[in-house]
Amino acid sequence: MSNIAYPPYPWQKESWEHLLQLKKLNRLPHALLLTGQAAVENTELAKCFAQFVLCRQPLSHSPCGECKDCLLFQSEDGHPDLSLMVPEGKLGIIKIEQIREILEKVLQTSQQGGYRVLIIKEAHAMNIASANALLKSLEEPGANCLFILISDKPHLLLPTIKSRCQQVFIKAELKDEETIQQQKEWVAKLLSVNDPLALAQEYQQADLSQLLNWTSLLLSDLIKIKSQVNLALAYTDSQLPMLETAAEMDLDQLYKLLDKCYRLQAESQLKISLNQQLILEDLLIEWVGNHAAVS
Ligand SMILES: [Zn+2]
Repeated sequence: MSNIAYPPYPWQKESWEHLLQLKKLNRLPHALLLTGQAAVENTELAKCFAQFVLCRQPLSHSPCGECKDCLLFQSEDGHPDLSLMVPEGKLGIIKIEQIREILEKVLQTSQQGGYRVLIIKEAHAMNIASANALLKSLEEPGANCLFILISDKPHLLLPTIKSRCQQVFIKAELKDEETIQQQKEWVAKLLSVNDPLALAQEYQQADLSQLLNWTSLLLSDLIKIKSQVNLALAYTDSQLPMLETAAEMDLDQLYKLLDKCYRLQAESQLKISLNQQLILEDLLIEWVGNHAAVS
């Protein structure tokens, strides 16, 4: 079983499917440039895609989570054929020394016989010297070499770099202030709910698909905390109550609840007439029961 959801955030689904198609149809370019506002979320997406590319027996929508490469990927040291580069120092620049060092590793033959993947976070932080050093490798990449550049400011990248990358725009979650507030409230209520029936009644008129989306994000966060994987959390404001909740819950149950959320989300998108209050009652009883069972 893998430790995270694929894609890591529900609103990345379209981009995720697009990336998977590139791989499945053998149309994967040597370099991808992931753009869009949410640089942290896009880095998580890039890591998940790297795992999919490295996986020996990928499933139709995710890596298998069980093969040697997936296990290496999830291990503490990470997969030897995946490198991640981030800007260094006070100025936050990607220096030419960094690029040279990492390219030396990336351009060697892969250690596991498959792809080598290099993710460059904040690619626009390369100065001209480092961009030119990278450019050479983009022009003559080795076989089975994939560069994934991530930038929320692609206009700052050298045109020569951009022209060698296939650009994929990743949608960020659309949120206004009011929605953000509602989301926070829902999460706070979930983390402290005692009476599932009352909560289900309170939210019987709310947007079900949105509630399920927020709930699955919380479940993914709890799974990340519980599995101690080093991935960005969606709800950074609620870390303390999440830690407490995670301690009370069982990992298998969290996965089951997450599956249930995804299934209900799919159903709610099909516009099947659903009894919202009943669905919420059912979900919340399971959620609360899960706490009670462990503690
Ligand atoms: Zn695998």
